[in-house]
Amino acid sequence: MTIFQPAAAPQNPADAPHGADEAAGRIVIGRDGAILHMTPGFAALAHGDWRDGGSFTDILRFADPDEALRSAGFFFSANHAQSGEMLREGVHELIAADGAAVTVQFDRITAPDQRVFILGSVITGDESFSIDDSFAQRVLRMMEPAPQKSEPAPRGPIGAAADDGALLHFLNMSNDLMAVAQHGGPFARVNGAFSQALGYTDAELQQKNFLDIVHPDDKAQVRNGLNGLLHDDTMDGHIIDVEARVITAAGDTRNIEWRLQRDGTAIYSVGRDVTATKRHEAALWRQKQQLDEAQAIGHMGHWQWTVGAEEIDFSDEIYRIFGMARGSFVPTLDHINALLHRRDVGRMMQAFQRAIIEKNNYDMEFRVVRPDGDVRFVRCEGRCERDEYGDVTALFGIMHDITERTLYERDLRAAKEAAERAYAAKSQFLANMSHELRTPLNAIIGFSEMMQRQLLGPIGTERYIDYIAGIRESGEHLLDLISDILDMSKIEAGKYELDLEELNLAKTIKLAVHMMEGRAQESQTRISTEIANLDRIVIADRRAVMQILLNLLSNAVKFSNSGGIVRVECADRESYVSIKVHDNGIGIPANKLKDVLRPFEQAASHYTREHEGTGLGLAITKDLVELHGGTLHIESSVGVGTTVTVRLPFDAYAHIKKKKAKKAD
Ligand code: ADP
Repeated sequence: MTIFQPAAAPQNPADAPHGADEAAGRIVIGRDGAILHMTPGFAALAHGDWRDGGSFTDILRFADPDEALRSAGFFFSANHAQSGEMLREGVHELIAADGAAVTVQFDRITAPDQRVFILGSVITGDESFSIDDSFAQRVLRMMEPAPQKSEPAPRGPIGAAADDGALLHFLNMSNDLMAVAQHGGPFARVNGAFSQALGYTDAELQQKNFLDIVHPDDKAQVRNGLNGLLHDDTMDGHIIDVEARVITAAGDTRNIEWRLQRDGTAIYSVGRDVTATKRHEAALWRQKQQLDEAQAIGHMGHWQWTVGAEEIDFSDEIYRIFGMARGSFVPTLDHINALLHRRDVGRMMQAFQRAIIEKNNYDMEFRVVRPDGDVRFVRCEGRCERDEYGDVTALFGIMHDITERTLYERDLRAAKEAAERAYAAKSQFLANMSHELRTPLNAIIGFSEMMQRQLLGPIGTERYIDYIAGIRESGEHLLDLISDILDMSKIEAGKYELDLEELNLAKTIKLAVHMMEGRAQESQTRISTEIANLDRIVIADRRAVMQILLNLLSNAVKFSNSGGIVRVECADRESYVSIKVHDNGIGIPANKLKDVLRPFEQAASHYTREHEGTGLGLAITKDLVELHGGTLHIESSVGVGTTVTVRLPFDAYAHIKKKKAKKAD
């Protein structure tokens, strides 16, 4: 049934139509070797008498029976059936009753009902032979069982064209599935595409009706359609379209778009296999879903505008950004403009126009005022689509809701500005206060010193002298602290100006050590110096360098244990001087090394109780070194000691000049 075969068929070989083939030597033999039909051409060659149903071997014998019947072939000859010998397909020599030799090619043909026949074709001369399809067709037609009286032959286009070989050819070439069935009955005929797509054998199809192959979920719908066609006579000749899945012989599901037509009692069906399209559609749908999800998560949508078009094509997320529902809002340029913030109106149009004229990518930010008054900040980025002449034909791109980010940045900027203002106010306040405190403190220190020395006459009570010494020490300590705070404030405010001059570093170091010796002696600490570059002259701020050295030395002494040793090393390097202040004191825990360089930070709270200090010394020292273009580095280990290394450039002026030039750039 794999080909559309003609419907009406004469049953008797005598009814066989006569044509060119009848002149050629052809014989049709049944599986049992009985002659079913012989052309006059064959009869003339065989010379023998033959009767309807007589055996082939009665009129011809094989010249070489062993060769013809030896191996497995395709039918039992009448005389050899018992012995199990079979005729081989192919060309064999035969001897006629009158002794004449005849060469015959035997081919197998299969009838619609699976019966097998042998077609023998006489070969004359050296002509090459192939099965003649038209003759084979005719033979098959002759052999087909008679159509049942109760089921008239299908009418309509296919039936009418049954004898049209060309049309049959077309039907079998078609990719569409075609089938004819009688009212609810099994398939009568199908085309090649039908068998191929669904994989059922002819025998299986003869047992199945249309509904049998329909997917269970789609059966009800198809049944309805068929009932509508079959039970309503006004539907005769009508075509219905129904999409239904079918189950193939292998158990797979295929999506088919069917057209069903009733013609009398016959149902003609034509199906288009849309499985690949459906799969493709499903994959596309999945991708679209994922894209929608991603856009919703990222608050970003895509859009496309064909130049000159009224509407812009928005993705779902852009509708959401605009606070509008698809369907109730038509995104024309005017409608979009109406939703933009008053100050941003028109900017989008301008950007579009510029992009078209300049053929450039573009981006812009605008605000959307949603119908509920909510303002959204939107970033729009676009690209141009061009034709073969380079002209812009469309614009497309993305819109990104950046409201949260924008508001966050705004808050951050406001907070930063507030912090900067507060910091500047604090520095200003500290600078003012320090300045104001210094004057009375200087008076306290100066007068207490005078009284301590009893310059204007003796103090009667001895204990007052101790008190006055206390007042003076406290005043000096307070002054140190205030000076540190003032220096720190100045540095932070960028107002610390270096007063550069040439100075002999060795002498400055020695002076600082000398100044610190009193305190060192008090805590039984020894300070030693190792200066390799006695003549080194550096250009630096004398007061700042002294402050650096005193801070480092006082820390080294302060955090040394009794009997400790503080060593100052100074040596030239390529373009700078390396000054190391080393002690074997209590050390700084590794996790505090970074902190101690920040203002008011101290390594541990209990030290602050044991050791005086504000936590400003190292921060100021580091800043002063850096103002000169140098670096400060601390190495320390708890219980072993600390080494602070300061690298000071030979010429701080060169550094400052470079910095200023960089700033000017
Ligand atoms: P202050 O000495 O006034 O507390 P500094 O800024 O000079 O402030 O030092 C910060 C902290 O660093 C000190 O409190 C101390 O904990 C630690 N520190 C500084 N120098 C040393 C040192 N040579 N040995 C051990 N600890 C030190």
